[in-house]
Amino acid sequence: MHRTPSPRGPLLPPPNHGTVASTAAVAFPFRTARLSVIRRPTLICTGKIVLVTCLLALTYRYLTGGCNSTETTPNNPSSEPSPKASQSQSDMASSEYVTQSMAAKDPKHDPFFDLIMDDDLAKNQWPKQLTSHQEEGKKGKDVSLMGKVMTPELFNKLKDIKTKTAGWTIARAMNTGTCYQSSFVGCHAGDPESYEIFKELFHPVIEKYHVGYKLDGSMKHITDMDPDKLTVALKDEAKAKVFSSRIRVARNLNFFPLNPGGTVETRNQIADLMSKVFDSFKDSDTYSDLAGTFHRHTEMTPEETQELVDGHFLFRGKDKMQAASGYHRFWPKGRGIFLNKSKTFVVWVNEGDHLRIISMEQGGDIKSVFTRLSRAIKAMEEGVKKVTGRESVFASDPALGVITCCPSNLGTAMRGSVHIGVPTIASALGLAEIDKMARTINCQARGSSGEHSAIVDRVDISNWRRLGFTEYSLVQDLIRGANLLSALEDKFVSKEADASNVDQVLAQLMSDVTIAGK
Ligand code: ADP
Ligand code: MG
Repeated sequence: MHRTPSPRGPLLPPPNHGTVASTAAVAFPFRTARLSVIRRPTLICTGKIVLVTCLLALTYRYLTGGCNSTETTPNNPSSEPSPKASQSQSDMASSEYVTQSMAAKDPKHDPFFDLIMDDDLAKNQWPKQLTSHQEEGKKGKDVSLMGKVMTPELFNKLKDIKTKTAGWTIARAMNTGTCYQSSFVGCHAGDPESYEIFKELFHPVIEKYHVGYKLDGSMKHITDMDPDKLTVALKDEAKAKVFSSRIRVARNLNFFPLNPGGTVETRNQIADLMSKVFDSFKDSDTYSDLAGTFHRHTEMTPEETQELVDGHFLFRGKDKMQAASGYHRFWPKGRGIFLNKSKTFVVWVNEGDHLRIISMEQGGDIKSVFTRLSRAIKAMEEGVKKVTGRESVFASDPALGVITCCPSNLGTAMRGSVHIGVPTIASALGLAEIDKMARTINCQARGSSGEHSAIVDRVDISNWRRLGFTEYSLVQDLIRGANLLSALEDKFVSKEADASNVDQVLAQLMSDVTIAGK
């Protein structure tokens, strides 16, 4: 079902960026009149000019119905850390954000879509909620990677810093893991520079997630999407169980903020730009097989949307943890899905990252899916360059690889998966146990409808690593994971294995080189 955007009153933060005409927007989406009014007092420092400027700023705040201090608002743009920020907290921030306690009292705030802040973080204060997660973590309960890294000392050191592009703050960055104890990563970037400016949080989180990768300057991420380098293949028994194969990569445009730090305007500008890029495939000699139709969420009927979700083509939105990062704000505006005619090339626009470029098809021909993906990424990059006239369009970094909103996707930003029917192990072991096994072979398992869903009729098995490995080697991880699940299913069906001897049987299966990759 389509969600009608809820009316947003004065509780919501003012947009970071104003609307600009479309060509200019593509060139400088962050430069706005509003931004310059807020920044002016910090730029001009003498006599009468200061007085006049302050009066202008106060008038502006009065007219826009804003709070007393923009400098300390977790999501307002500002170029420098503000030394005054902590003095003016108490009278502003909680009125800028919908907080968890406000949302608990008023059902019009939907935690599945709206940005709802931890009460303390909304005031730019250390969150008591996180202290209690950390205490429980000592007794064995879940704590996000963010929760494992963040301390009150680090919070106080970073709390008044804002990034230039999106005005991203540490309070916004850590909201998901603070509100949701079971969030695995627990923090998000609002723009590419967040990873540098808040590196004292992000770098340890990245090193904890991407085990073995070091951000001490000794490692560089390398990309290689050559399908001919694949040396392992799905076994016939595994292929027979595979419903469909899909590989996606995330990409973000380096001239917009990442979506958690973006606005409705930036989301719409990105969707408008993509519409032109998709149109360009129609006239292309090289990419005409990729031509198709762009469907915007605001133009689809609820039935059309649901049909695409049910067919595993379209994202659902409606995820509390993602909503807490700001992913789903302004839903459904600026969102869309592009499908080529055969529905084998799909692009999600503004789900979380700006783009999710997806290659998928029925059956288990993973090499074909990977080959198409490799072309599709090139087509998208060339298309954006052509439409914008820019030389570089996707955000990336030599050490972090492709830049994404969630640290888990950095690097290749790639997740290659098969949907595999393994009903016997699914009921004997369950998703959590299958996922645990998958992790030992650098894979992960998800439910039938993706992340945070349950197994209905199929398991989603995919590569787990993303950073510090080439794309083709991660596709090989996926292939090995699917072969392993298939072989284990066969052992359970033939009753050679059951829950009591599963570890032993797994060890035997792993001695097969095409599974273990030795
Ligand atoms: P991601 O964010 O990595 O793209 P999600 O777990 O959010 O993946 O799932 C997104 C959608 O893609 C879901 O509808 C899911 O069922 C679908 N999907 C994932 N893998 C496959 C696959 N191999 N075949 C078909 N659909 C898939
Ligand atoms: Mg997802």
